[in-house]
Amino acid sequence: MSKLSLRKHILTVDVEDYFQVSAFENIVDRASWDSLEHRVEHNTHKVLDLFNEHNAKATFFVLGWVAKRYPSIIKRIVDDGHELASHGYGHQRLTTLTQQQAFTDIEQSKQILEDTSGQLITGYRAPSFSINSSNTWIYDILKQLNFRYSSSTYPINHDLYGEPSWPRTAYQTKQGILEIPVSTLKLASKNYPIAGGGYYRLLPYWLNKQAINHFVKNEMQPYMFYFHPWEIDPKQPRFKQASNKSKIRHYTNLNIMEGKIVKLLECFNWQSVSDAYQEQITSNNLTKEIQCG
Ligand SMILES: [Zn+2]
Repeated sequence: MSKLSLRKHILTVDVEDYFQVSAFENIVDRASWDSLEHRVEHNTHKVLDLFNEHNAKATFFVLGWVAKRYPSIIKRIVDDGHELASHGYGHQRLTTLTQQQAFTDIEQSKQILEDTSGQLITGYRAPSFSINSSNTWIYDILKQLNFRYSSSTYPINHDLYGEPSWPRTAYQTKQGILEIPVSTLKLASKNYPIAGGGYYRLLPYWLNKQAINHFVKNEMQPYMFYFHPWEIDPKQPRFKQASNKSKIRHYTNLNIMEGKIVKLLECFNWQSVSDAYQEQITSNNLTKEIQCG
């Protein structure tokens, strides 16, 4: 199958395990995480294999918790030429944290990722896109920690995240952080989620593709897609005590997601966030900091 155009879009992966998602945060005790079956290492290597097969480059927003336990993931992401970025440490939604707690979480993750990879980490994605008008102080923290960009907003109506009135295109915050919202489709003044995750899994492929093609045809900005390694793992353990809503959100179509990802890899050209927004996020100060250690 030939790719539809040479134009490149942005592929992102939020690297976390199946038990760390916000949908299960009230039923899975954090203290039990280490005793559960871990599947993130295997699943992430599978994602990396798929990307290699289709010559796709991506940004991997990795949890510090995962990086600390599975440095092989970090090595492979870097060796395969992808961009490594931060998804925070413990996957706590920022809307539930104090400023000090958020600082500690983000700093800890950055330190682990930098120590493990030997690279400066400049990109950040908040767990569950949890930056909204209640916590824009997060951008002060990101600035303080030398991040250059964030991809932490999803301007849609959703129970866990999103502020539909927020920008749909990349912009500089007043703190100098480039915020790059994941993609939405604007139809008749309403924003629809077309960036991936659960919506991509739940809706039929033809509808997803139609929405993406509409975006690509009508928008100057690159389309940005995201998914998680656990979404291509239909054999993951099930949490029977989860609510029906959470079960539908997390378990529907896990068995066909890999095939749907492959279709996207076949149909479009993919690059990382830092390649797509190279000019906006490159800074001499950052280069200097790396050299000075
Ligand atoms: Zn996440």
